[in-house]
Amino acid sequence: MTCDEAEILLHALVDGELDAGHISEIEAHVATCPRCIAELAAIQQMRDAIAVADLKFTAPPRLRQRVEAALPQTQPVAASRRSLLKGFAMGSAVSALAATGLLGIVVSKDDQQRIESEIVSAHLRSLQAGHLTDVISTDQHTVKPWFNGKLDVSPPVIDLTAQGFTLIGGRLDYVDARAIGAVVYRRRQHIINLFVAQTASTERRAPRTDTIQGFNIRRWGERGLNFWAVSDIGADELNEFGDKFEAAMRVNKEG
Ligand SMILES: [Zn+2]
Repeated sequence: MTCDEAEILLHALVDGELDAGHISEIEAHVATCPRCIAELAAIQQMRDAIAVADLKFTAPPRLRQRVEAALPQTQPVAASRRSLLKGFAMGSAVSALAATGLLGIVVSKDDQQRIESEIVSAHLRSLQAGHLTDVISTDQHTVKPWFNGKLDVSPPVIDLTAQGFTLIGGRLDYVDARAIGAVVYRRRQHIINLFVAQTASTERRAPRTDTIQGFNIRRWGERGLNFWAVSDIGADELNEFGDKFEAAMRVNKEG
C-alpha cells in the first residue's frame, strides 16, 4: 500500500467505513509509516473540530455543508474515496468498532484487553531500530511543544530523571485506530513507553497493572486522560514510575 492509497483509506477508517480486511491492511501500513500516522492525527483533529462545532451551534445541515465545503480537500477526498470504496463490504461489526475509535469510550473488558495488547504491539514496534522516538530530547520543554498541533491533546511530558526515570523523547503512535502520543523513558537499559490518550471521563481511575506477553502494563486515568505505561521492567518498578509520574503531574498542576 502506498501513502496515497493509505491517505484515502484513512478518511474511511476514521469514519468507520472500512471492513476488517482493509482495516488490517491500513493498520499494517500506518504502523510503520510516520507520515500516515501524522495524517491520521490531522484527520481526527478535523473531524473532532467539526463534532465540537456541531455541539456548540447545533449547526443546521446547510451550514454544516458549507463548513465542510470550505474545508480544503474534503470534496476531492470524499469523491475518490467513494470510488475506491465501491464494492467494499460495509456495515460489518468491525467497522462499528473502528467507528468509535475513541480510547476514552472503552466500555467492555474485551475492549480493554484488546487495547492493552495493541499497546504491547506498539511498544514492541517502538523497540525496532529507528522507531523509538520522533523527537529525541531529555528536555521536557523540547518534547512537550513537539506534540503541539499533532494531536487533539498533547500528552503531559514530565522529566523524571531525578527520580531515576530518564526522559528520552516522544513519538506519535497508532493504537485503537487512532494516532496517540507516546512519551519515552529509560530505566537503566530498559525502555518505558507512556501512551497518553484523551478520554471522555474526567474521573480519576485508580492504577491497575496487567501482564501481557511478558510485558507489564500500568494503566490509570486522570484529568480527562488515559495513561498506559508499558515496559519489560518489573511490576514494582513500573508502579514506582507511575506513582512518581502521577505525583509530579499533581505538583505541576498546582504550580
Ligand atoms: Zn504512509
